[in-house]
Amino acid sequence: MRIELENLEGRKGDFAHVYQPDELNPVDERVRLTGPASVKGKVRPSGNQVFVDGHIEARAQVECDRCLQPVEAPVSADFALEYITGTDYESSDVVELTEVEMLVSVFDGEAIDVDEIVKEQILLAVPTRMLCREDCKGICPECGIDKNTGECQCVTDDIDPRWAALKKLK
Ligand SMILES: [Zn+2]
Ligand SMILES: [Zn+2]
Repeated sequence: MRIELENLEGRKGDFAHVYQPDELNPVDERVRLTGPASVKGKVRPSGNQVFVDGHIEARAQVECDRCLQPVEAPVSADFALEYITGTDYESSDVVELTEVEMLVSVFDGEAIDVDEIVKEQILLAVPTRMLCREDCKGICPECGIDKNTGECQCVTDDIDPRWAALKKLK
């Protein structure tokens, strides 16, 4: 979904959309949606800048860092973005006015790409490391068995260094 700024004249700039997973998948090579993603927000043009803020709810899925099984990662995120055109970006005073916490993006001056916002925000909201459970045993590096569901006889020296330190304390 793109919001054309031209069409905003005289309107409040509210928008809302529910994406089906297929519309955005894959969000990237690591993250997929498993349910609809809903976004609502407001577009406010102000001079050469455009402010976009709103909220996203989505159900995403990533692979467990250790065993690669899918893990649900619910997303509920507020966002506040600022857009300026490429030419304004090069004149530094606009950038200096920007509050530090706000993300400044460059856009073509005509339309805001809501698909891109939703994808970016989902990626920001999903933790960079996810485990299916705290004590996930992971995959045996020797035989590839998922050690959460099976046992193997491989002799491996793969104790997490943090646990090794704990063992010494005993
Ligand atoms: Zn796991
Ligand atoms: Zn093994």
